[in-house]
Amino acid sequence: MSEVGAKPGVAAKKKPSPIGGSLEPSKEIMALWKKVHQGMRTEFGEAIFRSWLKPLVLQAYYHGTMEVSVPTRFMRDWIQNHYAERILAMCTAADENIKKLQIVVVQNAIVEADDSDATEKKAVKANQNKKDEIASLSSPLDMRFTFDSFVIGKPNALAHAAARRVVESMSVPFNPLFIYGGVGLGKTHLMHAIAWQMNEHWPEKTVMYLSAEKFMYQFVRALRANDTMNFKEQFRSVDVLMIDDIQFIAGKESTQEEFFHTFNALVDQNKQIIISADKAPSDLTGIEERLRSRLAWGLVADIHPTTYDLRLGILQSKRAQLQANVPDSVLEFLALKVTSNIRELEGALNRIVAHSDVAKQEITLETTQEVLQDLLRAHDRRITIDEIQRKVAEHYNLRLTDMHSARRARNVARPRQVAMYLAKQLTARSLPEIGRKFGGRDHTTVMHAVRKIEELMDEDAQIAQDVDIVRRALTG
Ligand code: ADP
Ligand code: MG
Repeated sequence: MSEVGAKPGVAAKKKPSPIGGSLEPSKEIMALWKKVHQGMRTEFGEAIFRSWLKPLVLQAYYHGTMEVSVPTRFMRDWIQNHYAERILAMCTAADENIKKLQIVVVQNAIVEADDSDATEKKAVKANQNKKDEIASLSSPLDMRFTFDSFVIGKPNALAHAAARRVVESMSVPFNPLFIYGGVGLGKTHLMHAIAWQMNEHWPEKTVMYLSAEKFMYQFVRALRANDTMNFKEQFRSVDVLMIDDIQFIAGKESTQEEFFHTFNALVDQNKQIIISADKAPSDLTGIEERLRSRLAWGLVADIHPTTYDLRLGILQSKRAQLQANVPDSVLEFLALKVTSNIRELEGALNRIVAHSDVAKQEITLETTQEVLQDLLRAHDRRITIDEIQRKVAEHYNLRLTDMHSARRARNVARPRQVAMYLAKQLTARSLPEIGRKFGGRDHTTVMHAVRKIEELMDEDAQIAQDVDIVRRALTG
């Protein structure tokens, strides 16, 4: 794939032309391209067309190769990976002589700029080069993860408002913005939404988004290549740095160290940092204390588990996107039954829509139950911490509030530990989540409780029996 700089002449030299003459596409080819280009609207949809495909310009035609250009490397790579195959198929359908699609980078805006302001031109080009370089380090953004498609509800309202603030403020409103919450609750969606909107609102700013895993990978690669200077410079020259799933670098000391310095350098320059994690900064085990405390400097916004209303809202929005014929009763049923996270909720809806497409069958409550049999059975069996607390309180003749209270008397504290132990055994909740459910206790308290009960069950037959009775009441 050839890469073309600012001068169109450079491109012409690289092309394999036996005539060495003009590569200008003929009128027929130009007309064909115009038709194909317009056809992409219907083929890929208006949103994708506008974001990615509209800027495609036919540059040349030679030996069955259509050469088209886009303004940035990032766009070229994205189109190459996502749409090129189908675009070529569209061309070939229009003229079977077309065998290849070559996408090149031509920075049109710069080529065509007025010669009189050469310095500005240079600055624009330098900035564009920097943006291209950073784009190549960033992870790709999902087209679907925008603010428009993000449904707001009580559990995510704070995180959403904070994300909006970051995008809309002229200055840095809080640094860093730290978003945390369980799996599949919308952290990545919100981060991509910020990145998209940043690119739109502030096109001159360089935004870098990547997972902590990719950050580490880039860093290790730079270390191996003895090229950490370049790495540092690239990460320190961005205007907005977004790192997703920071918990990934837990226990990875040198990566943490590097991140810590990058973090400080950017904060010093008043550049925005946005971080996501599955836990609050203070609960990030395996992350150095000095970094943990830095992470909590700005605004910490948590996304809570979903509520029925939010789940229903998301299903309604998703139904509209899919333009699928799904009765309200089915959406309500799903919102009631699939409570784990939003990813699973979306998956359930996609499954019933796909099934009805293939089976050419209308979607009803009955078909839904049938198609989602396995999933629903798993959910029916899912035990909640609330239930555990109720059963344990019942068994020991305590009040439910004793499960959350600060009372330390043995006759209350021990059953509470039993409940924590069962919560760890019977639910998929993390230690910090369990701690929160028990009156906001620390995860180390939960860990201690789990170990203590495990120990006692070996030594004390009464405890072992109590645990067994409650467990059976819950799972039976
Ligand atoms: P996380 O990064 O927290 O694990 P994601 O951001 O990947 O979760 O979200 C999982 C799925 O749920 C994605 O498909 C996302 O679009 C969807 N989703 C999450 N929150 C919302 C929301 N508030 N509105 C619409 N879709 C959402
Ligand atoms: Mg994520």
